[in-house]
Amino acid sequence: MTVQNIKTSKQAIVDYWFSIVDECGLSVDASEAHERCWRCGYKQSLERCHIIPNCLGGEDKASNLVLLCHRCHLENPNIANMDIMWDWLRAYGTPFYDTFWVKQGMKEYEFVYGKSLEEEFAERRITDDNKFQDIIGEQMEKTTFHFGHPYLNSATLAGGLRVALKKYDETY
Ligand SMILES: [Zn+2]
Repeated sequence: MTVQNIKTSKQAIVDYWFSIVDECGLSVDASEAHERCWRCGYKQSLERCHIIPNCLGGEDKASNLVLLCHRCHLENPNIANMDIMWDWLRAYGTPFYDTFWVKQGMKEYEFVYGKSLEEEFAERRITDDNKFQDIIGEQMEKTTFHFGHPYLNSATLAGGLRVALKKYDETY
């Protein structure tokens, strides 16, 4: 993980991949691939990430690099096989920008509480999104992130949703 030593430019990586990949189904469009993470699609400072890791013989060239935010870089597969990275990027493809981590929080909610957020909304007949948006906004002010991880992780988002639903039940 000696990111600093990579010589291939970010633009070269974008130019290489977006001349050959099908961008359909990815989290990022070619026009924004230089400034949005290829996995989550958020506008972040991007890191050059080896497809085949350096220590497993992966080379410093555009065909062996992709651009990821720091958070996705920590989670990417590190394996001596070219296909696995793209399997992973495609599996997480999200059609709308800036929704990826919210979706991850909703998946975490369902995992922890055994019920989807859609079901929770349906039970409460929450159709007026604004009322719930206000409550979740308030609850999210009472969350934070770990030092060195400048983002709300999925567990925190799921917890915020849970507390907000309880608050909603008390209020309405
Ligand atoms: Zn990312």
